[in-house]
Amino acid sequence: DRAVTAIDRLTVVVPDFPSAGIMFRDLTPVFADASGFRAVVDAIAASFAGTFDAVAGVEARGFLLAAAVGYATGTGVVTIRKAGKLPRAVHRESYDLEYGQAALEIHQSDLPAGSRVLVLDDVLATGGTLVAACALLDKAGATVVGCGVVLELGGLGGREKLAGRTVHALEIVA
Ligand code: IMP
Repeated sequence: DRAVTAIDRLTVVVPDFPSAGIMFRDLTPVFADASGFRAVVDAIAASFAGTFDAVAGVEARGFLLAAAVGYATGTGVVTIRKAGKLPRAVHRESYDLEYGQAALEIHQSDLPAGSRVLVLDDVLATGGTLVAACALLDKAGATVVGCGVVLELGGLGGREKLAGRTVHALEIVA
């Protein structure tokens, strides 16, 4: 499978980033590679083909995927942003980080009611980010058809936290 081959060949594991003990999986070289980027975008689009009419990307690397999948499939793109970036009325959802809290926001009126939305991010770890993103789309009156990621870090409880949602990862690593 071309996507998995590209992920395996190009992902760089960075020890102790952003803090001691974390093994950070850096996917930016996969996106920077022409055939790697095309392979992951095509694989995500194929996984959810025909199920969605808009794509939501989670800031910031999710934007890259969402824009490409939206363009490839002829669907609109919506930004789910870190708090304080969007200029109009927003829905907000707070979530826990390892140390402290963060919040994501979405414009209240970017999506027509009842839109079927695919949510994309690069990595699923503990699941806090995608749970918050899905909650925002619920608040916005959208139907979340699924969550797509390039890489799932298994064993961190992310998939369990997203129970009841459709989650598809191109690759799962232990
Ligand atoms: P979660 O909320 O714990 O699932 O973390 C997922 C979020 O953190 C996503 O937005 C990812 O971009 C980012 N993230 C967590 N771990 C990694 C990693 O190893 N590589 C790249 N991004 C990561």
